[in-house]
Amino acid sequence: MTGPTAGVPFDAIATGTDIQRRIGVKTSRDEPLARFTTMRVGGPADLFAVIHNAFELRALVKFARARAIPYTILGRGSNLVIADAGIRGLVIQARAEGTKVDGERYHAEAGVPMARAATETQKAGLTGLEYGLAIPGTVGGAVWANAGAHDNETAAVLESATVLLADGTERELARDELGFRYRHSRFKDAPEVPSGGPAEIVMSAVFRLTRADPAEIKRRLDEIRHWRQAHQPLGLPSAGSVFRNPDGDSAGRLIDELGLKGFRIGGAVVSEKHANFIVNDQRGTAADVRRLAEHVRREVRERHGIELQFEVEFIGDWSGWTEETA
Ligand SMILES: Cc1cc2nc3c(=O)[nH]c(=O)nc-3n(C[C@H](O)[C@H](O)[C@H](O)COP(=O)(O)OP(=O)(O)OC[C@H]3O[C@@H](n4cnc5c(N)ncnc54)[C@H](O)[C@@H]3O)c2cc1C
Repeated sequence: MTGPTAGVPFDAIATGTDIQRRIGVKTSRDEPLARFTTMRVGGPADLFAVIHNAFELRALVKFARARAIPYTILGRGSNLVIADAGIRGLVIQARAEGTKVDGERYHAEAGVPMARAATETQKAGLTGLEYGLAIPGTVGGAVWANAGAHDNETAAVLESATVLLADGTERELARDELGFRYRHSRFKDAPEVPSGGPAEIVMSAVFRLTRADPAEIKRRLDEIRHWRQAHQPLGLPSAGSVFRNPDGDSAGRLIDELGLKGFRIGGAVVSEKHANFIVNDQRGTAADVRRLAEHVRREVRERHGIELQFEVEFIGDWSGWTEETA
């Protein structure tokens, strides 16, 4: 599990006032985080801030690091299950959303929704980012996860990313420096700073695309939209695929074969539409989701002999969590 841990004492009121005065960013205390995630579960952040540009992101991260305040970066929360006890320290939602089309390159700040990147580049007659329509997260989250869908992935179209490094400097890293493989990047391996929080943060990205007829790209976007509607439980809160596909197989197939579709713990249910999705029936808690995910993992281990790896990330304060249902 990643993310800041409990027990780092800091004065949220004084810190919030300081952030407002020095950086000009408003903060809120004990902010419930469920609504900032697609799974719609998770307790409060001690302190919560939304940043709207690179200056604010840079300044806030530097502020937290300098004062040893644990921090967490949130995109659109579409790959996360936040603990019911919430997240200690400062949670920063990245909403810097500047974009620019420059010839065949598309520049996007980390907070740009991938779906917007897909439609903006379609209008500019650039192909390559159509898969972004399927990803309800941000450019920063997509680089972090090497998100991909519909036979494409971020690593295939990304030219470079500008990264805030542990020492506070920023560097434009080329694709080859980003450690991409299946649903993985160097950001997943990067150590945390000593007080808690990712050592490397994606500030922006440049995608290298190809010219194509906008009408043709639009047809492809429509196909993707229809496919997702037919195959994924889009109307219900979820965090996408719970498990990574094991080599040469599909996690959804393995789970489906065990008859687990519809199996529920509390308000968390294995989707009837796609067995690798857990949906929240609106009454679910983070503990329900995690218990169900662990149950599915155990069943697949015992009955198929395969150890599934999580694709979703469990973050925040899970210290009081137990696997037994109450
Ligand atoms: C219905 C549904 C369908 C999905 N389909 C797909 C799919 O087809 N393919 C796929 O790959 N994924 C899919 N996902 C998962 C998810 O959308 C992606 O993993 C996405 O890239 C996450 O982006 P985010 O902005 O929501 O990140 P978050 O969930 O907010 O964060 C995920 C991680 O990224 C880190 N992070 C976010 N922004 C930054 C940044 N700027 N710098 C450093 N770290 C950062 C966070 O700290 C966190 O550790 C799906 C999810 C849902 C809900």
